[in-house]
Amino acid sequence: MSKLPPALEQLPSVWKRRHLLDLESLSAEEITAILDTAQAFKDATNDCRDKLSVLSGKTSVNLFIENSTRTRTSFALAARRLGADNIEFSASSSSLSKGETLIDTAKTIEAMQIDTLVCRHSAPGAAQMLAKNLDCCVINAGDGPHEHPTQGLLDMLTIRQHRGNIAGLTVALVGDIAHSRTARSNIWGLKKLGAHVIVCGPSTLVSRQWEALGVEVAHNLDDILPRCDVLNLLRIQFERQYTRPFPSIREYALLYAMNRQRMERAKEDILIMAPGPINRGVEVTPDVADGSHSVILHQVTNGLAVRMAALWLVNNVTA
Ligand code: ASP
Repeated sequence: MSKLPPALEQLPSVWKRRHLLDLESLSAEEITAILDTAQAFKDATNDCRDKLSVLSGKTSVNLFIENSTRTRTSFALAARRLGADNIEFSASSSSLSKGETLIDTAKTIEAMQIDTLVCRHSAPGAAQMLAKNLDCCVINAGDGPHEHPTQGLLDMLTIRQHRGNIAGLTVALVGDIAHSRTARSNIWGLKKLGAHVIVCGPSTLVSRQWEALGVEVAHNLDDILPRCDVLNLLRIQFERQYTRPFPSIREYALLYAMNRQRMERAKEDILIMAPGPINRGVEVTPDVADGSHSVILHQVTNGLAVRMAALWLVNNVTA
């Protein structure tokens, strides 16, 4: 059992929230407090391997009504590494399939005296609605195309670890901006911490309206590539699209896949990121995904640290 480092002996003074629902409503100081807390957990636990007992006696429930590999597993592990109990809710074998509403299901789980509900749902605002109706802490693990705050945070933690700072960097989010919750959480977080953000993809997936959020809109990856410090390659969210946004996957890959030829025109120290799952050959070719510039698996480890920080922070604020 590792000892809690001095940096974690008390909550950061800016942290007052019992829910983590989005990055849009967080201040730069709150975002930095979560990143610092995640880094402290990572440093104190041998890269998130060791167990602590800081949440012993607490229970966290994963209520995932959409598929997940990384987020679900890392929230479960994060709870356990902090000494909490973690329960997995299985939507397909639950009373949701008998017609019970999400709120009734959540209230039922809450009545079993749990402390945190980690919710993923296809409806934007689902976690927000639960936070309004429940007394326990709620963490948004992705609400449709709206936000995925812990993904944005783990992406920022990874950039910070590799570049020292986020302010002043040019970060391009490439791909399905229209349907990506990762894009929204990255935009809010990165802008607040002072990065220049470019959203890049076909005009059917990246409209000029994004400029209203203070980002640069681009449709040609080759034009912006030499300026980018970081590329975050986002998956085409076919499950959220009703019409095909481009003629074929091959054409998309030709214009937007990060490959060896494009790497030759990129900055020497460019960081290649992807939230996963990646479609090899579509957003990124295997040699680049597995190459020396890729930090995709560092993102996964940082996901564990960020989720430890999120669980610890919300659970330690007194109601
Ligand atoms: N895993 C991320 C999410 O749940 C990204 C993706 O699915 O493409 O949003």
